[in-house]
Amino acid sequence: GEGCRTVPLSGHVGFDSLPDQLVNKSVNHGFCFNILCVVAPKLDPTVSGLLLPSIQFVLELPPQPDYFTVQQVSVRSHQVVHLGQPPLQLELSVDLLPSGKGETGLGKSTLMDTLFNTKFEGDPASHSQPGVQLKSSTYDLQESNVNLKLTIVSTVGFGDQINKEDSYKPIVEFIDAQFEAYLQEELKIKRVLHNYHDTRIHACLYFIAPTGHSLKSLDLVTMKKLDSKVNIIPIIAKSDAISKSELTKFKIKITSELVSNGVQIYQFPTDDESVAEINGTMNAHLPFAVIGSTEELKIGNKMMKARQYPWGTVQVENEAHCDFVKLREMLIRVNMEDLREQTHTRHYELYRRCKLEEMGFKDTDPDSKPFSLQETYEAKRNEFLGELQKKEEAMRQMFVQRVKEKEAELKEAEKELHEKFDRLKKLHQDEKKKLEDKKKSLDDEVNAFKQRKTAAELLQSQAQQAGGSQTLKRDKERKKPCRFYGNNCYGDVMMEPC
Ligand code: GDP
Repeated sequence: GEGCRTVPLSGHVGFDSLPDQLVNKSVNHGFCFNILCVVAPKLDPTVSGLLLPSIQFVLELPPQPDYFTVQQVSVRSHQVVHLGQPPLQLELSVDLLPSGKGETGLGKSTLMDTLFNTKFEGDPASHSQPGVQLKSSTYDLQESNVNLKLTIVSTVGFGDQINKEDSYKPIVEFIDAQFEAYLQEELKIKRVLHNYHDTRIHACLYFIAPTGHSLKSLDLVTMKKLDSKVNIIPIIAKSDAISKSELTKFKIKITSELVSNGVQIYQFPTDDESVAEINGTMNAHLPFAVIGSTEELKIGNKMMKARQYPWGTVQVENEAHCDFVKLREMLIRVNMEDLREQTHTRHYELYRRCKLEEMGFKDTDPDSKPFSLQETYEAKRNEFLGELQKKEEAMRQMFVQRVKEKEAELKEAEKELHEKFDRLKKLHQDEKKKLEDKKKSLDDEVNAFKQRKTAAELLQSQAQQAGGSQTLKRDKERKKPCRFYGNNCYGDVMMEPC
């Protein structure tokens, strides 16, 4: 750099062994490589034919018809015509369900076995499940003195659903989850990155069905969603199912569709002179049309991986038959380290940047001045504390307000109670007074009655007494006639005696 001086050495020092030290260290440590296999959905069937009143049509199924069962054929639209009119137009919709026998695969397991020259154990995947799942298996491989921890992740059930809209989501989430795990490890105080099992996906093999038609929209959508997260290498699987001329056209079609939809697939790097030429040539061969087979057949006097058919043999490692060798060369022998590096420096870096920005971290302040992590942390902390204080204050205010409201409510209730009590008290007093008045008048009546009664009793007793002497007198008087009535006088107790 600037300010550095070049000084010649006068003898061997030894730092030229640094690359060897690096190699030794890496070899001792071992390597890891993670491949994601996305097996593209199969082709929907097309219905065509001359639809005359006798209605005959041809159902053109995907290349391996026994992978599917026809669930339902329904009329999407039709046009009624009368005799002598142009032919009847009928549009049919055909719902296919994977047959559920687990054979819908595009040869992913076979290809992996062929690529790494081994037999990876694994349960055959079911293709009739409701959602997309990612299944990952890790294997320890050794070649000469190099150890490789290989993880193969497969998308189980991708594209097997009738509604495929969200099929890509679990794949994106899986890739992000691996980045997130790495980021969390990086952000730890005590990091153990040298020992960390890195599960970030280094290469995504996108399996395209050998249909010869165009890419399905789901393929394009999925690849578009993945291209900023992973190195995509598209491959045409089971390419022995398609003729050579069809394959050439199919490759051109796929490439132009990828370009017109802005899908960025992984480009083998051409900046390193030693591989620039081969990588440049190989970029032009994408997508690779591959064939897989673990079966070895004797061809000439050599044992070779091949698929045998009644009409002949397809050799997996024959470049005239398929691009398998190209794929192995590019994926493993030439660019494995570049794929690992791109994953770390491009895809992970992008994830990390977005994630940290989302969390509020920045490298510069609004005036474009450098802003350290600590400053960001302190600014965030202050912002957080400020917000917390504001929230606390708001809660306190709310509490005071609520207490005031409650108090007012209680006071109101108390006032009402008092008023009610006063009303009742007055009512009670009035009632009492009325009763007392009534009692008084009754008492008066009783007294008057008693007086009358005593008077009456008195009179009666007087009368009785008077009655007794009167009778005597009258008896005497009767002897001599009354001075008024003579002998006709009968006397009267109430009257003055005559
Ligand atoms: P997976 O479900 O995607 O893992 O597929 P498999 O590897 O289990 O293969 C499914 C079927 O396809 C098996 O019968 C394989 O023998 C067959 N198969 C695998 N690769 C090829 C290929 O390149 N061409 C053809 N024609 N068949 C293949």
